[in-house]
Amino acid sequence: MSEALIQTDLGSLPLTARGKVRDIYALSADRLLFVASDRISAFDHVLGSGIPFKGRILTRLSLFWFDLLKPIVPNHLITADATQFPPELQPFLDQLEGRSMLVKRAKMFPVECVVRGYLSGSGWKDYQQTGSICGIKLPAGLRESDRLPDPIFTPAAKIHSGGHDENISYEVVEKTIGAAYADALRSLTLKIYEKATEHAGRQGLILADTKFEFGLVADESGNEQIVLADEVLTPDSSRYWPAGSYNPGGPQPSFDKQYVRDYLESIHWNKQAPAPALPREVVLRTGEKYLEAYRLLTGRTNL
Ligand code: ATP
Ligand code: MG
Repeated sequence: MSEALIQTDLGSLPLTARGKVRDIYALSADRLLFVASDRISAFDHVLGSGIPFKGRILTRLSLFWFDLLKPIVPNHLITADATQFPPELQPFLDQLEGRSMLVKRAKMFPVECVVRGYLSGSGWKDYQQTGSICGIKLPAGLRESDRLPDPIFTPAAKIHSGGHDENISYEVVEKTIGAAYADALRSLTLKIYEKATEHAGRQGLILADTKFEFGLVADESGNEQIVLADEVLTPDSSRYWPAGSYNPGGPQPSFDKQYVRDYLESIHWNKQAPAPALPREVVLRTGEKYLEAYRLLTGRTNL
């Protein structure tokens, strides 16, 4: 088994953020480097073991989707070809190759653009309490994991410092970023979801819900343009279910993290730091699931 990359070290390059999975470096005023490590999180904690190839797979998946979605929306990618990265990154290619994206730095909208086609996660929780999600009234009598009559835009405000994102109403989005941008982001989110769902469906996967982040980037003539940023439609930002075993009326097993969750439940981890390491068997089987998602979604067999 090849080694997992848990953390990058790019010498004196300024690390601007380290998320649960990504290390982000500032290269200049207008460019960032996103490196997807092999870290894996569960129950909001980064676990003590990485999953070899996970970072490469997440990066390849984002690239695949950026390309497929180009007719709908431009994106922040400059290049993922590490040989094209600027000279100061060349000494670090062993850490970066295959798992990194050089991107345009965007002015990010402070809204997580969540779209749901099925009733799950925080959407299911809200529905049970209020019959609505983000102020959108849904029919009575829906069961957990049921398909919604139509996909819905259920935005969330990003809560920094480790908390959960908070579902917000469309009106709050309008107040935060203005009605025109709110409308544009909602419409893009729904269009992208429709296209992604069609593709996933052909490959035997249900895309239950997912989250996009958008930002503004100035084009050559200095006009600001909305771009799709961050990672897109990876198992980390999306809920995929195998269509063949879809069984509404309860939670669906996680496509990628079920072995991890089952293991963590089996050892009765109290979900407080430090998070445990994973046995080799769980690491291998989880890696297989990421590879399977990659094969199914891209139709490609090797990385
Ligand atoms: P988590 O690990 O829970 O996702 P996080 O969202 O803070 O935590 P990351 O996802 O690794 O960690 O951080 C990525 C950050 O980069 C997000 O704040 C996102 O909004 C921001 N971002 C994504 N694309 C761009 C871009 N092109 N320009 C500027 N910021 C971006
Ligand atoms: Mg994030």
